[in-house]
Amino acid sequence: MALSDQELFLHLAALIGETHVLTRPDDMAPFCKEWRGLFPGRARAVVRPANTAEVSALLQFCNTHRIPIVPQGGNTGLVGGQTPWDKGDEIVLSLQRMNHIRDVDPLSDTMVVEAGVTLFAAQEAAEKVDRLFPLSLASEGSCTIGGNLASNAGGTAVLAYGNARELTMGLEVVLADGRVMDLLGRLRKDNTGYDLKNMFIGSEGTLGVITAAVLKLYPRPRAQVTVFAGLASPSAALALLNHLKADFGAGVTTFELLPRIALDMVCDHITGNRDPLVTRHDWYVLAEISGADESLSERVTASFAAMIEEGVVADAAIALSLDQRMALWRLRETLPEAQGHEGGSIKHDIAVPLASVPQLIDDVCTRVEKLVPGARPVPFGHLGDGNLHFNITQPKGMERAAFMALWDDIGAIVYDETVKRRGSISAEHGIGRLKKKLLREVKDPVALDVMAGLKRMLDPHGILNPGKVIDAP
Ligand SMILES: Cc1cc2nc3c(=O)[nH]c(=O)nc-3n(C[C@H](O)[C@H](O)[C@H](O)COP(=O)(O)OP(=O)(O)OC[C@H]3O[C@@H](n4cnc5c(N)ncnc54)[C@H](O)[C@@H]3O)c2cc1C
Repeated sequence: MALSDQELFLHLAALIGETHVLTRPDDMAPFCKEWRGLFPGRARAVVRPANTAEVSALLQFCNTHRIPIVPQGGNTGLVGGQTPWDKGDEIVLSLQRMNHIRDVDPLSDTMVVEAGVTLFAAQEAAEKVDRLFPLSLASEGSCTIGGNLASNAGGTAVLAYGNARELTMGLEVVLADGRVMDLLGRLRKDNTGYDLKNMFIGSEGTLGVITAAVLKLYPRPRAQVTVFAGLASPSAALALLNHLKADFGAGVTTFELLPRIALDMVCDHITGNRDPLVTRHDWYVLAEISGADESLSERVTASFAAMIEEGVVADAAIALSLDQRMALWRLRETLPEAQGHEGGSIKHDIAVPLASVPQLIDDVCTRVEKLVPGARPVPFGHLGDGNLHFNITQPKGMERAAFMALWDDIGAIVYDETVKRRGSISAEHGIGRLKKKLLREVKDPVALDVMAGLKRMLDPHGILNPGKVIDAP
């Protein structure tokens, strides 16, 4: 029999403690929509457990009573995975109180952190023992390790270090029935059957609740050089990337692409930004090269000089101080905010094989211009990973609502050109609710069948983040 709200509250309070069970609409409001105000919903309660035992007891209770749960970390996800639906029957399980760093072991190059530790706090803990935890996202002050792993986050250093999956050595996961699976091994080698942890990484809260993780640490680079280069085309950017990889190998830690329109937007709308180069160029690259020796700056300068000589790069500015480095990064990081000042933008997070990026950009731009003359494509992002945030901003003067009504038509073009090249419709933000339908249309049907089977096995009553990623009837 269904529990009344009062009965539910009493049970939850007994499990988690009264003060950590929120039921007043005002208290629950920040957990029920994300920061842009998108994907709003309603919850029956928000619960904030303090440890794995409480998460386990909660899941056991919810599984028994068939109460759906939405796991939530920093609530910075962009695909509507972390907020409840409208129905108001779900409990939001916030992991934010589970914010302890259990152990940092520089000799093994690992640290064990709880799911609610923010990415920034994890980076700081690594830095304290002279190590690097390389995951880096613009949302790092708020997003949590649990959310990073549940969405297999990418960011600006994937090129050198890999995404969240590759930075994880072990996991602790609470299953739908409340059992705790301890996979917190710190082993670089462990061939004892299926790699279960990777099933939960990227599962967006639909297969289990991540409560802790063993993260990999790396040596902190002793030197870091940041360069902003102007070029004629994305093909030139790829030639530059190829050249830098040959010169610096895995030392190329960041390689971000920006079109001219993006630089105009951030300089026009964000105070303090300015074009670091003297003349205008059609495309720009923000590159960062890391290394261990003092001569890095000279070698990077020589490498870019060779590229200018060969005509691949038109001009480049090298940051000479931390302030200058931050100023170059701001040009990249403030773009989403600046774009907001230009009216509506229809956004896509896609990946294609590196070599196909230039043609993809050309083909999408041509087709979008035919559909909406004057629409302004702003393809930017992690070119080094073949990952573009292919945003299309509305034509100047067009009614915002009329442009945003074209979301599906423009999306159809971007995704068609992506899938044609065996690309991904979600490079790093995940599926959530935003791309669930699209996933069904583009993913291999056998793979979808296996995904649904896993969901049915691990969550037979469908209590974990229902309606997100995949339905498993
Ligand atoms: C300004 C900005 C920049 C961003 N840049 C990037 C970027 O470069 N690369 C990138 O990949 N993403 C980026 N993101 C998206 C987002 O920050 C990441 O997806 C981040 O990893 C989400 O972490 P979170 O703690 O906020 O998770 P939430 O948003 O709370 O949740 C995300 C998903 O994970 C699930 N989840 C959360 N915690 C757990 C848990 N403990 N166990 C199981 N499931 C859980 C949720 O149910 C949801 O499905 C950006 C977002 C913003 C706002």
